Amino acid sequence: MANSISGLSYVPNTPSSPWQVYLQQVDRVTPHLGHLARWVETLKRCKRVLAVDIPINRDDGTVAHFEGFRAQHNLSRGPGKGGVRFHPDVTIDEVMALSAWMTVKNAAVNLPYGGAKGGIRVDPRQLTRGELERLTRRYTSEIGLIIGPDKDIPAPDVNTNDQIMAWMMDTYSMNVGATATGVVTGKPIALGGSLGRREATGRGVYITARETARSLGFDIAGSRVVVQGFGNVGGIAARLFKAAGATVVGLQDVSGAVANDAGIDVDAALEHVASGGTLRDFKGVTPVSESEFWQIKSDIFVPAALENQLTETRASHIATRLVVEGANGPTTPAADDILHERGIVVVPDVIANAGGVTVSYFEWVQDFSSFFWTETEINDRLERILVEALKAVVHTAEKHKVSLRTAAFIIACTRVLAAREQRGLYP
Ligand code: GLU
Repeated sequence: MANSISGLSYVPNTPSSPWQVYLQQVDRVTPHLGHLARWVETLKRCKRVLAVDIPINRDDGTVAHFEGFRAQHNLSRGPGKGGVRFHPDVTIDEVMALSAWMTVKNAAVNLPYGGAKGGIRVDPRQLTRGELERLTRRYTSEIGLIIGPDKDIPAPDVNTNDQIMAWMMDTYSMNVGATATGVVTGKPIALGGSLGRREATGRGVYITARETARSLGFDIAGSRVVVQGFGNVGGIAARLFKAAGATVVGLQDVSGAVANDAGIDVDAALEHVASGGTLRDFKGVTPVSESEFWQIKSDIFVPAALENQLTETRASHIATRLVVEGANGPTTPAADDILHERGIVVVPDVIANAGGVTVSYFEWVQDFSSFFWTETEINDRLERILVEALKAVVHTAEKHKVSLRTAAFIIACTRVLAAREQRGLYP
Protein backbone atom coordinates (compact mmCIF):
# COMPACT_ATOMS: atom_id res chain seq x y z
CA MET A 1 0.00 0.00 0.00
CA ALA A 2 1.39 3.41 -0.95
CA ASN A 3 0.02 5.20 2.09
CA SER A 4 1.44 5.18 5.59
CA ILE A 5 -0.08 5.01 9.04
CA SER A 6 1.64 6.04 12.24
CA GLY A 7 -0.40 4.96 15.24
CA LEU A 8 -3.93 6.20 14.76
CA SER A 9 -2.75 9.57 13.48
CA TYR A 10 -2.85 9.06 9.76
CA VAL A 11 -0.61 11.03 7.44
CA PRO A 12 -1.82 10.86 3.84
CA ASN A 13 0.68 11.13 1.01
CA THR A 14 -1.50 12.45 -1.79
CA PRO A 15 -3.16 15.88 -1.55
CA SER A 16 -6.31 14.58 -3.27
CA SER A 17 -6.79 11.76 -0.76
CA PRO A 18 -10.33 11.72 0.64
CA TRP A 19 -8.93 11.76 4.19
CA GLN A 20 -6.93 14.89 3.33
CA VAL A 21 -10.09 16.51 1.93
CA TYR A 22 -11.95 15.64 5.13
CA LEU A 23 -9.16 17.14 7.29
CA GLN A 24 -9.37 20.40 5.33
CA GLN A 25 -13.12 20.47 5.96
CA VAL A 26 -12.47 20.06 9.69
CA ASP A 27 -9.97 22.94 9.59
CA ARG A 28 -12.67 25.12 8.04
CA VAL A 29 -15.16 24.41 10.80
CA THR A 30 -12.76 24.72 13.75
CA PRO A 31 -12.94 28.55 14.13
CA HIS A 32 -16.73 28.22 14.53
CA LEU A 33 -16.71 25.65 17.35
CA GLY A 34 -16.17 28.00 20.31
CA HIS A 35 -14.92 26.28 23.46
CA LEU A 36 -15.50 22.83 21.89
CA ALA A 37 -12.58 23.53 19.54
CA ARG A 38 -10.31 22.16 22.29
CA TRP A 39 -11.68 18.70 21.43
CA VAL A 40 -11.24 19.00 17.66
CA GLU A 41 -8.30 16.58 17.55
CA THR A 42 -10.89 13.88 18.29
CA LEU A 43 -12.30 14.45 14.81
CA LYS A 44 -8.90 14.29 13.11
CA ARG A 45 -8.37 10.61 13.76
CA CYS A 46 -10.35 7.38 13.66
CA LYS A 47 -11.20 5.71 16.93
CA ARG A 48 -10.54 2.29 15.43
CA VAL A 49 -9.55 0.87 12.01
CA LEU A 50 -9.50 -2.84 11.26
CA ALA A 51 -7.69 -4.17 8.17
CA VAL A 52 -8.39 -7.78 7.27
CA ASP A 53 -7.14 -10.37 4.81
CA ILE A 54 -9.98 -12.15 3.00
CA PRO A 55 -8.97 -15.44 1.36
CA ILE A 56 -11.59 -17.15 -0.81
CA ASN A 57 -11.77 -20.29 -2.93
CA ARG A 58 -12.21 -19.29 -6.57
CA ASP A 59 -14.46 -21.43 -8.77
CA ASP A 60 -11.40 -22.57 -10.74
CA GLY A 61 -9.87 -24.18 -7.65
CA THR A 62 -7.32 -21.44 -6.88
CA VAL A 63 -7.27 -19.28 -3.73
CA ALA A 64 -7.50 -15.49 -4.03
CA HIS A 65 -6.78 -12.91 -1.31
CA PHE A 66 -8.52 -9.55 -0.96
CA GLU A 67 -7.95 -6.59 1.37
CA GLY A 68 -10.86 -5.44 3.50
CA PHE A 69 -11.37 -2.68 6.05
CA ARG A 70 -13.83 -1.44 8.66
CA ALA A 71 -13.18 1.99 10.14
CA GLN A 72 -15.02 3.38 13.16
CA HIS A 73 -14.31 7.07 13.17
CA ASN A 74 -16.30 8.16 16.21
CA LEU A 75 -18.70 6.41 18.59
CA SER A 76 -19.41 9.27 21.01
CA ARG A 77 -23.11 9.57 20.08
CA GLY A 78 -23.96 5.90 19.56
CA PRO A 79 -22.95 2.75 17.68
CA GLY A 80 -21.05 3.02 14.42
CA LYS A 81 -23.14 3.29 11.25
CA GLY A 82 -22.14 3.34 7.62
CA GLY A 83 -22.02 1.33 4.43
CA VAL A 84 -19.67 -1.22 2.91
CA ARG A 85 -18.33 -0.69 -0.61
CA PHE A 86 -16.82 -3.21 -3.01
CA HIS A 87 -14.58 -1.33 -5.43
CA PRO A 88 -11.09 -1.79 -6.94
CA ASP A 89 -10.04 1.69 -5.71
CA VAL A 90 -10.91 1.11 -2.04
CA THR A 91 -8.03 2.11 0.27
CA ILE A 92 -7.71 2.51 4.02
CA ASP A 93 -7.48 6.26 3.42
CA GLU A 94 -10.79 6.31 1.57
CA VAL A 95 -12.59 4.13 4.12
CA MET A 96 -11.35 6.36 6.96
CA ALA A 97 -12.64 9.49 5.21
CA LEU A 98 -15.97 7.85 4.44
CA SER A 99 -16.32 6.79 8.09
CA ALA A 100 -15.62 10.37 9.20
CA TRP A 101 -18.24 11.72 6.79
CA MET A 102 -20.69 9.25 8.34
CA THR A 103 -19.94 10.74 11.80
CA VAL A 104 -20.74 14.19 10.42
CA LYS A 105 -23.78 13.01 8.44
CA ASN A 106 -25.36 11.12 11.33
CA ALA A 107 -24.85 14.07 13.65
CA ALA A 108 -26.03 16.64 11.08
CA VAL A 109 -29.37 14.80 10.77
CA ASN A 110 -29.32 14.01 14.51
CA LEU A 111 -29.43 10.22 14.23
CA PRO A 112 -28.16 8.49 17.42
CA TYR A 113 -25.10 7.01 15.72
CA GLY A 114 -21.38 7.45 15.40
CA GLY A 115 -19.65 7.10 12.04
CA ALA A 116 -18.21 3.96 10.43
CA LYS A 117 -17.49 2.58 6.98
CA GLY A 118 -16.16 -0.58 5.40
CA GLY A 119 -14.85 -1.71 2.09
CA ILE A 120 -13.16 -4.44 0.11
CA ARG A 121 -10.63 -3.68 -2.60
CA VAL A 122 -12.24 -5.75 -5.35
CA ASP A 123 -14.00 -5.41 -8.68
CA PRO A 124 -17.14 -7.45 -7.95
CA ARG A 125 -17.88 -7.74 -11.68
CA GLN A 126 -14.89 -10.08 -11.95
CA LEU A 127 -16.40 -12.54 -9.43
CA THR A 128 -19.07 -15.20 -9.88
CA ARG A 129 -22.08 -15.11 -7.57
CA GLY A 130 -20.61 -17.92 -5.46
CA GLU A 131 -17.28 -16.13 -5.14
CA LEU A 132 -19.06 -12.90 -4.19
CA GLU A 133 -21.00 -14.73 -1.49
CA ARG A 134 -17.84 -16.35 -0.06
CA LEU A 135 -16.04 -12.99 -0.12
CA THR A 136 -18.92 -11.30 1.70
CA ARG A 137 -19.21 -14.04 4.31
CA ARG A 138 -15.48 -14.21 5.08
CA TYR A 139 -15.28 -10.39 5.31
CA THR A 140 -18.25 -10.37 7.71
CA SER A 141 -16.62 -13.03 9.87
CA GLU A 142 -13.35 -11.11 9.96
CA ILE A 143 -14.96 -7.82 11.01
CA GLY A 144 -17.37 -9.72 13.30
CA LEU A 145 -15.11 -8.72 16.19
CA ILE A 146 -16.25 -5.11 16.03
CA ILE A 147 -19.73 -5.09 14.43
CA GLY A 148 -23.11 -5.88 16.02
CA PRO A 149 -26.58 -4.35 16.43
CA ASP A 150 -25.40 -2.21 19.34
CA LYS A 151 -21.77 -1.77 18.21
CA ASP A 152 -21.59 -0.95 14.50
CA ILE A 153 -24.21 -1.54 11.82
CA PRO A 154 -23.08 -1.86 8.16
CA ALA A 155 -25.33 -1.09 5.17
CA PRO A 156 -25.11 -0.95 1.36
CA ASP A 157 -22.81 1.49 -0.43
CA VAL A 158 -21.10 1.45 -3.87
CA ASN A 159 -21.59 -1.98 -5.54
CA THR A 160 -23.30 -3.60 -2.54
CA ASN A 161 -27.02 -4.33 -2.24
CA ASP A 162 -29.75 -6.14 -0.29
CA GLN A 163 -28.41 -9.60 -1.24
CA ILE A 164 -24.97 -8.75 0.17
CA MET A 165 -26.69 -7.49 3.35
CA ALA A 166 -28.66 -10.77 3.60
CA TRP A 167 -25.38 -12.76 3.47
CA MET A 168 -23.81 -10.44 6.06
CA MET A 169 -26.80 -10.80 8.37
CA ASP A 170 -26.82 -14.58 7.98
CA THR A 171 -23.06 -14.92 8.59
CA TYR A 172 -23.13 -12.75 11.70
CA SER A 173 -26.23 -14.60 12.97
CA MET A 174 -24.60 -18.01 12.43
CA ASN A 175 -21.51 -16.86 14.34
CA VAL A 176 -23.47 -15.57 17.35
CA GLY A 177 -26.01 -18.43 17.31
CA ALA A 178 -29.17 -16.32 16.93
CA THR A 179 -30.85 -14.44 14.12
CA ALA A 180 -29.71 -10.83 14.53
CA THR A 181 -31.56 -8.79 11.93
CA GLY A 182 -30.37 -5.47 13.41
CA VAL A 183 -26.69 -6.07 12.57
CA VAL A 184 -27.04 -4.60 9.07
CA THR A 185 -29.57 -2.36 7.32
CA GLY A 186 -30.60 -2.27 3.68
CA LYS A 187 -31.71 -5.92 3.92
CA PRO A 188 -34.37 -7.55 1.74
CA ILE A 189 -37.89 -6.77 3.00
CA ALA A 190 -38.47 -10.45 3.88
CA LEU A 191 -35.48 -10.40 6.28
CA GLY A 192 -36.34 -7.35 8.35
CA GLY A 193 -35.58 -4.76 5.68
CA SER A 194 -37.54 -1.52 5.54
CA LEU A 195 -39.91 -0.33 2.87
CA GLY A 196 -38.48 2.72 1.16
CA ARG A 197 -34.83 1.97 2.09
CA ARG A 198 -33.66 1.21 -1.43
CA GLU A 199 -35.03 4.48 -2.77
CA ALA A 200 -34.19 6.54 0.33
CA THR A 201 -30.84 8.04 -0.70
CA GLY A 202 -32.11 9.11 -4.12
CA ARG A 203 -35.31 10.41 -2.53
CA GLY A 204 -33.26 12.48 -0.06
CA VAL A 205 -31.27 13.97 -2.94
CA TYR A 206 -34.53 14.91 -4.63
CA ILE A 207 -36.07 16.40 -1.45
CA THR A 208 -33.04 18.53 -0.56
CA ALA A 209 -32.72 19.69 -4.19
CA ARG A 210 -36.41 20.63 -4.33
CA GLU A 211 -36.23 22.64 -1.09
CA THR A 212 -33.03 24.45 -2.07
CA ALA A 213 -34.27 25.19 -5.59
CA ARG A 214 -37.39 26.71 -4.07
CA SER A 215 -35.29 28.99 -1.85
CA LEU A 216 -33.31 30.04 -4.94
CA GLY A 217 -36.56 30.89 -6.69
CA PHE A 218 -37.08 28.03 -9.13
CA ASP A 219 -39.11 24.83 -9.32
CA ILE A 220 -38.05 21.29 -10.15
CA ALA A 221 -40.82 21.27 -12.77
CA GLY A 222 -39.31 22.79 -15.90
CA SER A 223 -35.72 22.68 -14.61
CA ARG A 224 -32.81 20.96 -16.39
CA VAL A 225 -30.98 18.27 -14.44
CA VAL A 226 -27.67 16.43 -15.01
CA VAL A 227 -26.81 13.35 -12.94
CA GLN A 228 -23.35 11.76 -12.74
CA GLY A 229 -23.81 8.13 -11.66
CA PHE A 230 -26.73 5.89 -12.53
CA GLY A 231 -26.68 3.41 -9.65
CA ASN A 232 -28.93 3.22 -6.63
CA VAL A 233 -28.51 6.92 -5.81
CA GLY A 234 -28.24 8.63 -9.21
CA GLY A 235 -30.76 6.34 -10.92
CA ILE A 236 -33.52 6.85 -8.34
CA ALA A 237 -32.82 10.60 -8.05
CA ALA A 238 -33.01 11.00 -11.85
CA ARG A 239 -36.33 9.11 -11.88
CA LEU A 240 -37.79 11.34 -9.15
CA PHE A 241 -36.60 14.55 -10.86
CA LYS A 242 -38.19 13.41 -14.11
CA ALA A 243 -41.44 12.42 -12.36
CA ALA A 244 -41.57 15.91 -10.81
CA GLY A 245 -41.44 17.52 -14.26
CA ALA A 246 -37.71 18.14 -14.69
CA THR A 247 -35.91 17.48 -17.97
CA VAL A 248 -32.94 15.16 -17.37
CA VAL A 249 -30.49 16.34 -20.03
CA GLY A 250 -27.31 14.42 -19.08
CA LEU A 251 -26.38 11.14 -17.38
CA GLN A 252 -23.18 9.22 -16.81
CA ASP A 253 -22.41 5.64 -15.74
CA VAL A 254 -19.31 3.42 -15.94
CA SER A 255 -19.76 3.16 -19.72
CA GLY A 256 -19.47 6.92 -20.20
CA ALA A 257 -21.57 10.07 -20.46
CA VAL A 258 -24.67 10.66 -22.57
CA ALA A 259 -26.91 13.64 -23.28
CA ASN A 260 -30.19 14.62 -24.85
CA ASP A 261 -31.17 18.27 -24.86
CA ALA A 262 -34.85 17.40 -25.22
CA GLY A 263 -34.73 15.08 -22.20
CA ILE A 264 -33.77 11.46 -21.52
CA ASP A 265 -36.46 8.84 -20.90
CA VAL A 266 -35.10 7.92 -17.45
CA ASP A 267 -37.52 5.04 -16.78
CA ALA A 268 -36.63 3.38 -20.07
CA ALA A 269 -32.92 3.93 -19.36
CA LEU A 270 -33.30 2.32 -15.92
CA GLU A 271 -35.03 -0.69 -17.47
CA HIS A 272 -32.32 -0.93 -20.12
CA VAL A 273 -29.56 -0.90 -17.46
CA ALA A 274 -31.46 -3.35 -15.22
CA SER A 275 -31.54 -5.84 -18.09
CA GLY A 276 -27.76 -5.68 -18.50
CA GLY A 277 -27.32 -2.69 -20.85
CA THR A 278 -25.29 0.48 -20.34
CA LEU A 279 -26.15 4.14 -20.92
CA ARG A 280 -23.82 4.30 -23.92
CA ASP A 281 -25.83 1.67 -25.81
CA PHE A 282 -29.21 3.12 -24.78
CA LYS A 283 -31.26 4.51 -27.68
CA GLY A 284 -32.37 8.14 -27.64
CA VAL A 285 -29.15 9.60 -26.23
CA THR A 286 -25.94 10.97 -27.73
CA PRO A 287 -22.58 9.93 -26.25
CA VAL A 288 -20.59 12.96 -25.08
CA SER A 289 -17.01 13.36 -23.87
CA GLU A 290 -16.24 13.79 -20.20
CA SER A 291 -15.43 17.49 -20.57
CA GLU A 292 -18.61 18.09 -22.59
CA PHE A 293 -20.60 16.32 -19.89
CA TRP A 294 -19.37 18.65 -17.15
CA GLN A 295 -20.35 21.68 -19.26
CA ILE A 296 -23.93 20.70 -20.14
CA LYS A 297 -26.18 23.62 -19.26
CA SER A 298 -28.36 22.72 -16.28
CA ASP A 299 -30.15 24.14 -13.24
CA ILE A 300 -29.22 21.22 -10.99
CA PHE A 301 -26.12 19.03 -11.21
CA VAL A 302 -26.03 15.87 -9.09
CA PRO A 303 -22.63 14.18 -8.65
CA ALA A 304 -23.73 10.69 -7.52
CA ALA A 305 -20.69 8.55 -8.32
CA LEU A 306 -17.43 8.67 -6.35
CA GLU A 307 -15.12 11.11 -4.50
CA ASN A 308 -13.01 13.84 -6.09
CA GLN A 309 -15.14 14.28 -9.20
CA LEU A 310 -15.88 17.99 -8.99
CA THR A 311 -12.32 19.28 -9.27
CA GLU A 312 -11.09 22.87 -9.66
CA THR A 313 -11.14 22.67 -13.46
CA ARG A 314 -14.63 21.22 -13.59
CA ALA A 315 -15.85 23.74 -10.99
CA SER A 316 -14.63 26.58 -13.23
CA HIS A 317 -16.59 25.26 -16.23
CA ILE A 318 -19.70 23.67 -14.78
CA ALA A 319 -22.78 25.47 -16.09
CA THR A 320 -25.35 25.01 -13.34
CA ARG A 321 -27.00 26.86 -10.47
CA LEU A 322 -27.18 24.17 -7.84
CA VAL A 323 -24.95 21.18 -7.02
CA VAL A 324 -26.58 18.47 -4.90
CA GLU A 325 -24.07 15.87 -3.70
CA GLY A 326 -25.49 12.36 -4.04
CA ALA A 327 -22.02 10.81 -3.66
CA ASN A 328 -19.82 11.11 -0.59
CA GLY A 329 -16.98 13.61 -0.98
CA PRO A 330 -17.44 14.44 -4.69
CA THR A 331 -16.23 18.07 -4.38
CA THR A 332 -12.67 19.10 -3.43
CA PRO A 333 -12.22 22.06 -1.02
CA ALA A 334 -10.58 24.13 -3.80
CA ALA A 335 -13.55 23.41 -6.09
CA ASP A 336 -15.90 24.38 -3.25
CA ASP A 337 -14.26 27.83 -3.17
CA ILE A 338 -14.61 28.28 -6.93
CA LEU A 339 -18.28 27.28 -6.87
CA HIS A 340 -18.84 29.71 -4.00
CA GLU A 341 -17.18 32.56 -5.93
CA ARG A 342 -19.29 31.73 -8.97
CA GLY A 343 -22.49 31.87 -6.90
CA ILE A 344 -23.27 28.17 -7.39
CA VAL A 345 -24.93 26.73 -4.28
CA VAL A 346 -23.74 23.31 -3.06
CA VAL A 347 -25.99 21.10 -0.92
CA PRO A 348 -23.29 19.02 0.81
CA ASP A 349 -23.25 15.21 0.87
CA VAL A 350 -23.74 15.07 4.63
CA ILE A 351 -27.27 16.47 4.13
CA ALA A 352 -28.05 15.70 0.47
CA ASN A 353 -27.39 11.95 0.67
CA ALA A 354 -28.43 11.46 4.31
CA GLY A 355 -31.78 9.95 3.25
CA GLY A 356 -30.24 6.47 3.03
CA VAL A 357 -28.88 6.33 6.53
CA THR A 358 -32.03 7.99 7.87
CA VAL A 359 -34.18 5.13 6.57
CA SER A 360 -31.46 2.72 7.76
CA TYR A 361 -32.12 4.15 11.21
CA PHE A 362 -35.86 3.48 10.72
CA GLU A 363 -35.02 -0.08 9.65
CA TRP A 364 -32.86 -0.67 12.75
CA VAL A 365 -35.61 0.71 15.03
CA GLN A 366 -38.23 -1.49 13.32
CA ASP A 367 -35.98 -4.55 13.69
CA PHE A 368 -35.53 -3.91 17.43
CA SER A 369 -39.26 -3.54 18.02
CA SER A 370 -40.24 -6.19 15.42
CA PHE A 371 -42.95 -3.77 14.34
CA PHE A 372 -42.94 -2.53 10.77
CA TRP A 373 -44.17 0.76 9.36
CA THR A 374 -45.95 1.54 6.10
CA GLU A 375 -44.07 3.11 3.21
CA THR A 376 -46.09 6.30 3.62
CA GLU A 377 -45.07 6.56 7.29
CA ILE A 378 -41.45 6.05 6.30
CA ASN A 379 -41.44 8.58 3.48
CA ASP A 380 -43.29 11.16 5.60
CA ARG A 381 -40.78 10.83 8.45
CA LEU A 382 -37.86 10.94 6.03
CA GLU A 383 -39.22 14.11 4.46
CA ARG A 384 -39.71 15.75 7.88
CA ILE A 385 -36.22 14.90 9.14
CA LEU A 386 -34.44 16.08 5.98
CA VAL A 387 -36.43 19.30 5.60
CA GLU A 388 -35.80 20.21 9.26
CA ALA A 389 -32.08 19.34 9.03
CA LEU A 390 -31.68 21.38 5.85
CA LYS A 391 -33.52 24.34 7.38
CA ALA A 392 -31.15 24.29 10.37
CA VAL A 393 -28.13 24.17 8.02
CA VAL A 394 -29.39 27.14 5.97
CA HIS A 395 -30.05 29.10 9.16
CA THR A 396 -26.53 28.34 10.50
CA ALA A 397 -24.96 29.27 7.16
CA GLU A 398 -26.67 32.67 7.26
CA LYS A 399 -25.73 33.27 10.89
CA HIS A 400 -22.03 32.41 10.46
CA LYS A 401 -21.79 33.62 6.83
CA VAL A 402 -20.37 30.29 5.69
CA SER A 403 -21.17 27.71 3.01
CA LEU A 404 -23.87 25.08 3.55
CA ARG A 405 -21.08 22.50 3.97
CA THR A 406 -19.33 24.39 6.77
CA ALA A 407 -22.73 25.07 8.35
CA ALA A 408 -23.58 21.35 8.33
CA PHE A 409 -20.15 20.66 9.86
CA ILE A 410 -20.78 23.32 12.57
CA ILE A 411 -24.04 21.65 13.60
CA ALA A 412 -22.65 18.12 13.43
CA CYS A 413 -19.25 18.72 15.04
CA THR A 414 -20.87 20.70 17.86
CA ARG A 415 -23.10 17.70 18.61
CA VAL A 416 -20.24 15.21 18.44
CA LEU A 417 -17.81 17.25 20.51
CA ALA A 418 -20.44 18.18 23.12
CA ALA A 419 -21.04 14.43 23.56
CA ARG A 420 -17.28 13.91 23.75
CA GLU A 421 -16.95 16.56 26.44
CA GLN A 422 -19.94 15.41 28.48
CA ARG A 423 -18.85 11.77 28.44
CA GLY A 424 -15.34 12.76 29.50
CA LEU A 425 -12.17 10.78 28.94
CA TYR A 426 -11.84 7.23 30.24
CA PRO A 427 -10.00 6.48 32.48
N1 GLU B 1 -23.80 4.07 2.39
C1 GLU B 1 -24.80 5.04 2.70
C2 GLU B 1 -24.16 6.37 3.02
O1 GLU B 1 -23.06 6.65 2.60
C3 GLU B 1 -25.78 4.57 3.78
C4 GLU B 1 -25.17 4.18 5.09
C5 GLU B 1 -26.15 3.51 6.03
O2 GLU B 1 -27.31 3.37 5.71
O3 GLU B 1 -25.69 3.11 7.10
O4 GLU B 1 -24.75 7.21 3.64
